[in-house]
Amino acid sequence: MDAVVIRLIPALVLLAVAALGAGLYVGAGRGPGPVIEIHEPARFIGRQVQFEATIDAGDADLIAVTAAIEQNAVTVPIFSLSTPDNSRIAQETDTRIRISRSLTRDAYRELTEGSASISVQATHARLFGLRERSATARHDVEARFTAPRLSVASSFHYVNHGGAELVVYRVNPPDVESGVRVGDHFYRGYPASAAGVDTSDAALRVALFALLHGQELDTPIRLYARDGAGNETEANFDHRVFPRRFRRSRLSISDRFLARVVPAIIARSDAFSSIPLPPDAGLLEQYLAINGQLRRLNGERIRELAAETAGERLWSEPFRQLANSQVESGFGDHRTYVYDGREVDQQVHLGFDLSVTANVPILAANAGRVVWADYLGIFGNCVIVDHGLGLQSLYAHLVSIGVRTGDAVAINDPLGRSGMTGLAGGDHLHFTMLLNGEPISAVEWWDPHWIEDRVTRKLRAAF
Ligand SMILES: [Zn+2]
Repeated sequence: MDAVVIRLIPALVLLAVAALGAGLYVGAGRGPGPVIEIHEPARFIGRQVQFEATIDAGDADLIAVTAAIEQNAVTVPIFSLSTPDNSRIAQETDTRIRISRSLTRDAYRELTEGSASISVQATHARLFGLRERSATARHDVEARFTAPRLSVASSFHYVNHGGAELVVYRVNPPDVESGVRVGDHFYRGYPASAAGVDTSDAALRVALFALLHGQELDTPIRLYARDGAGNETEANFDHRVFPRRFRRSRLSISDRFLARVVPAIIARSDAFSSIPLPPDAGLLEQYLAINGQLRRLNGERIRELAAETAGERLWSEPFRQLANSQVESGFGDHRTYVYDGREVDQQVHLGFDLSVTANVPILAANAGRVVWADYLGIFGNCVIVDHGLGLQSLYAHLVSIGVRTGDAVAINDPLGRSGMTGLAGGDHLHFTMLLNGEPISAVEWWDPHWIEDRVTRKLRAAF
């Protein structure tokens, strides 16, 4: 190698390093900025607001994050990485953080009702802080600080314990969630036009509600509304509650009965396997698990089906009790189960047992749409018909089902044939009305006078 070349090497190395550095410098500058996602607030700012955003800095170092609510010329800072104050910062992955902060109206006094936006700006750095990239995300929201307004439009609300009632009311603005709260149960209201009221008043609502068998007579019953910004209102409305006498009965369980129903129910109920039982559990123990835990699991499944209710009233005539049937067991009967002279269980019977002979057609109590047509644990072969606005009817212990989920049915359409599948001592129809998936007394719905007084008259008068 000659001397010139040898002298050139350090210069070439220097040049190469410089070129590499420049390349890195330019490359680091060209990469994308941090990835920002604003999760909360989604649409509204209320008297309280939850701010939540994630920032992904990739392989760079996050050096700055700020967030603000902007409205016209007003900017309210709500977060800064350098002074995070009351915020929570969680490292979600190696490269991503989640920022959350709860704020109340005091923090954004300057804002007025109307449109606003949330903006988040983040900066990351590469090459020991030599190259920085910033990104901004913006998200439109609406500020609402006034609670919705409620007013009652119907009068004379009489609620039987275990039964239902209807209230007509107005809510403003009309785009908020509203309904009736009975203790910890919520019954949503529907636009009155969907209930069959001839009105163009968008604020007018109709809600069916119930005082359930298991609730106390003095359970608070109030109208309730909540907007998307979390502003809430409650309003009292005049109502009277009437106690009902529920019967007590004793039911003897025989070995023959256990041998017929227990293995049959277990064989067809997937839910049964989730109930903890010792492997050597006998028929009686299995029966008690069916009568207790499986009954509750079946009830949960029925409550889930309530979500499939139609947003409009699907019926117009009073509900029909199955012809030529006698009530052999009423709604809310308290049953004590006796086996071999011992009291082994207690349950409340939330439905009507209508005695019929085997294999008679079971007819739809009113018009609606089938939401369940399948085996359902203690109910055996079971059909549930939705009548809209949260109201449904249930038909149990059928020997065969003649409809499918999704079928539209008219009043008196056959749904199947009577039998004794599930927890049934003999051929009968177990029938109940459901509101929001909770059993309510059918006596009211079978009574044309009750329908007129409690439902139809109020809908006619609702203007
Ligand atoms: Zn029954």
